[in-house]
Amino acid sequence: MIGAGIIGLSTAYQLVEQGMTVTVYETGTPGFGQSAGQSRIFRHAHDDPRLVELAVRARAHWRRWSDELGAPLISQDGGLALGDVAVKRLPAMQAFPEIGARQIDSDDVHALLGVLADYDGPAVFDPSAGSIHTRTAIELLSRSLAPNLVNEQVISLAKVGDGVQVRCPTVVSDHGAAVICAGRGTVRLAAGVGMDLPVEIGAHVRVSFAPRLPQGRLPTLQDGSGAFGFTGVYAAAYPDRSGYGLGLADSVDAGTAGAIDAQALAAYADGAIEYVTRALPGLDPDPIGIVHCWVTTLPWGDDGVAIWQDGPVFALAGHNLFKHAPILGEALASSVDVGAVPTPFTPDDRLGSSGD
Ligand SMILES: Cc1cc2nc3c(=O)[nH]c(=O)nc-3n(C[C@H](O)[C@H](O)[C@H](O)COP(=O)(O)OP(=O)(O)OC[C@H]3O[C@@H](n4cnc5c(N)ncnc54)[C@H](O)[C@@H]3O)c2cc1C
Repeated sequence: MIGAGIIGLSTAYQLVEQGMTVTVYETGTPGFGQSAGQSRIFRHAHDDPRLVELAVRARAHWRRWSDELGAPLISQDGGLALGDVAVKRLPAMQAFPEIGARQIDSDDVHALLGVLADYDGPAVFDPSAGSIHTRTAIELLSRSLAPNLVNEQVISLAKVGDGVQVRCPTVVSDHGAAVICAGRGTVRLAAGVGMDLPVEIGAHVRVSFAPRLPQGRLPTLQDGSGAFGFTGVYAAAYPDRSGYGLGLADSVDAGTAGAIDAQALAAYADGAIEYVTRALPGLDPDPIGIVHCWVTTLPWGDDGVAIWQDGPVFALAGHNLFKHAPILGEALASSVDVGAVPTPFTPDDRLGSSGD
């Protein structure tokens, strides 16, 4: 396994459960790549109905992990989505009554998200969505995998015989298979074994704000309505609801040399503050935290994800992966076990296609 973000940890955890011998190479601290920060949105709403079904399975899997690891991993506060896009995604969710997703009116909206300004447009509530307690999940999975973790950077991979040879600064080691889930590093490592992944790399910023008053409930928010001058806004709460991490969906493209336009990134952070000023008067617009992260997107959609294979080497790439991590880990573990990528996770499946 190369990478101890949420995907590598999920995959390793499930391979160990299956009795396999697993080594996880991580160049830094587990969970401080794209998986960094205090929270992520768990949501069932997706354009691709296959991702809705996988989210139902992932939700059940997160509950099992909570039991096994001994801590709640997703808040009970639900998820609120505003705008026509939320209503468009509702039928695919209502195919699964256990989700409980429903359209709500403006009174319900304000009862659920007290920090929001007046809003009377279309809105959908998903009671089984919530904020993922990312740090807890990373810490507990890492702790259970401590004997498997090797704090080395993988410099190169090579197919040798039926297996794979891994070269690190101070380690050369042979393995039966390799799984590359190295976030931004995946494209480079996969290219080294002849795999060409169509990943677009960008940088993203999310800003955190404190509620002015303690909140008994702080559901996740996706605002596609434009009612407050922005579309594609998302937010998730800290586990103790002391902060609300909020970002605009857009990212700054990395140029061919990987350079990021710092001013463009700062403009997105300013946009988040402006949105809070207009839409969320119950939050103090003076930021309490900031997270900058790499984003790795596939050409067929913002929720696109796939697993590539070349013999004993598997590589996963995509975006918005945290919520589905238990299921993606299961798919990678099965790929290693069976020697082939299951449907619908091959690149030809175009899982997470936005349908545009
Ligand atoms: C600001 C932001 C908000 C997001 N919001 C959501 C959300 O609300 N819901 C959601 O589901 N998803 C969300 N996502 C996406 C989600 O966080 C990522 O898709 C997910 O964390 C990716 O995990 P990963 O394990 O693939 O990658 P990473 O967490 O990046 O892990 C890869 C690991 O590989 C290591 N590595 C890299 N190269 C090497 C090497 N050569 N050798 C050894 N180790 C290496 C890195 O150090 C890193 O720890 C968001 C992302 C961002 C940036």
